[in-house]
Amino acid sequence: MRSRVCTDCTTAPVMRCGRCTTTRCAAHALAPGTRCDKCERDWADEAATRRAAKMIFAPSIGILSGGLLFGLLLPVSLGGAIGAAIMCTIACATAVGAGAGACRLVDRSARAMFLRERAGGLPAARLLPSPRHR
Ligand SMILES: [Zn+2]
Ligand SMILES: [Zn+2]
Repeated sequence: MRSRVCTDCTTAPVMRCGRCTTTRCAAHALAPGTRCDKCERDWADEAATRRAAKMIFAPSIGILSGGLLFGLLLPVSLGGAIGAAIMCTIACATAVGAGAGACRLVDRSARAMFLRERAGGLPAARLLPSPRHR
């Protein structure tokens, strides 16, 4: 199972995976924004969860923003069928755009959470803002 692991990675490491305790040698050093094979596999495994989150978030955010715009534009479009059709198109486009934006947001925040270093086990006090900075 550990056959692919190179000995330099454990005996002469130059860096460590920011997410777990895996060490990497100079030849296998991780690029910024990436994590070790095991962690990246975790990331891939979570793809289904993220997709599920998008399925929940995107339509509701889309409907919400589309509906909001629909309500805002309703008084303007009372003039006629053409105005109503244009308003509907704009509301639909907004809904789709907001849904797509929600998907991107899910991806970005999920990746940020994934990359967050949690290996060191920092004491809780160091994670809190310093009182001096208030
Ligand atoms: Zn190596
Ligand atoms: Zn790792």
